[in-house]
Amino acid sequence: MPAQPPPPAPTDAPVPFPESLCHRCAAPPQYVRTSRSVFILCPLLPERYPRQPVLDCDLFRPRRDARPDPPS
Ligand code: SF4
Repeated sequence: MPAQPPPPAPTDAPVPFPESLCHRCAAPPQYVRTSRSVFILCPLLPERYPRQPVLDCDLFRPRRDARPDPPS
């Protein structure tokens, strides 16, 4: 079985729904970019494209390199 690709490195590129848990998830989500939009594809959920923003997810596991939440 081939190894899973590493999660995408954090970038300063804008992402949709920055508050979404997906951006900090070890799943790892994939970013599908079209000319007009960016979609977040989840490799774990059957529906593949969860309704955004994901604020609660039973499958969420924090990515090792995830940035902590900014203080509120
Ligand atoms: S497991 Fe949940 S939090 Fe992680 S990428 Fe999929 S939908 Fe987002």
